[in-house]
Amino acid sequence: MSVFDHPEFDNHEHVAFYHDDEAGLSAIIAVHNTNLGPALGGCRMWPYINSSEALTDVLRLSKGMTYKAAMANLELGGGKSVIIGDPRKAKTPEMMRAMGRFVDSLGGKYFTAEDSGIAVSDLATMAEESDYIAGVKAHYHYNGEEADGNPAPSTAYGVFVGVRASVEYGLKSDLKGVKVAIQGMGHVGYRLAKHLHEAGAQLFVTDIYPEGVDKAVAELGATAVAPEEIYGLDVDVIAPCAMGASINDETLPAIKAKVIAGAANNQLAREEMGELLRERGILYAPDYVINAGGVIDIFHQRKESSSNEAMREHIEQIGTTLKAIYSRAEEEATATNRIANTMAEERFTAKG
Ligand code: NAD
Repeated sequence: MSVFDHPEFDNHEHVAFYHDDEAGLSAIIAVHNTNLGPALGGCRMWPYINSSEALTDVLRLSKGMTYKAAMANLELGGGKSVIIGDPRKAKTPEMMRAMGRFVDSLGGKYFTAEDSGIAVSDLATMAEESDYIAGVKAHYHYNGEEADGNPAPSTAYGVFVGVRASVEYGLKSDLKGVKVAIQGMGHVGYRLAKHLHEAGAQLFVTDIYPEGVDKAVAELGATAVAPEEIYGLDVDVIAPCAMGASINDETLPAIKAKVIAGAANNQLAREEMGELLRERGILYAPDYVINAGGVIDIFHQRKESSSNEAMREHIEQIGTTLKAIYSRAEEEATATNRIANTMAEERFTAKG
């Protein structure tokens, strides 16, 4: 299998493969760029069909983390790890400990954290073997909620800050009475709804399961809508907080909202959707910029001299960063997602 000729290879600094037969572990770590600091990126466990599919994922995701860390004003680079296997069937404590040893073997060049298929409890097992495991000792809180290492509360707060900044920039308004439609009432979506409700926004919510929606209707006075209705609603903001590619050729024509700002990763089905949004006068908050609250939280968890206030202030910079992206995009008549990429590259290559 070729790494250097791989279509997703982008001058990655370090790609390591690891196999531990006894522990049943086959894993890959990719470190994309460490110009700004050691690489941070979650560990994903997934039933990849083969190692080639796993390599594609780890190369792509580690690069994304470099951009995300740079735009979150973090002294961190981008990395990612993948374990080949079904997390519901193949995961064992021995495998997690072996993964901890693999992370440790890079000597601090790469820190891992949570991602799909890996829980905080798995990270705790990895941490028995390595100091380079992040996301296991959160001690920050929002709305009285105790933190357990799960970054969703910080992600939600960052998205809230980002929605507020986007509304200020695009609609010249605060959040009072602004109509926001949230797609997905999961870990992030529900918490975002709560922040927005407290700021006076009017909420429309949807999910493919009823629990979160019913709770938002009962506790936050939200209006429930069917999943397919969300795009065409007469609202000011759409906040995608469910799956990727929700902004695509089918959904775009229906959108009436003037702002798209939410937590989901890879919201645009393809990069060019950013330009189509710009042409339609829709302000798009680049996903990896607005959803960086969780990564910022993980960074502060590891920082000796940090505090709840320092972390919140750092997360609040997401608003300032988005406004800088919006004004440069306007000046250069370019899509916001492209401007975000350019700004990230300027930051992480300048340090090289
Ligand atoms: P989650 O799984 O808790 O919530 C997602 C919700 O979306 C679920 O309730 C699910 O039922 C719903 N959903 C799925 N398909 C849907 C559809 N077609 N229409 C409406 N609802 C649908 O996940 P989460 O942790 O809340 O994350 C939400 C998004 O934000 C994901 O894309 C995730 O990758 C991204 N994200 C999360 C974090 C974090 O800290 N949790 C950080 C960065 C990015």
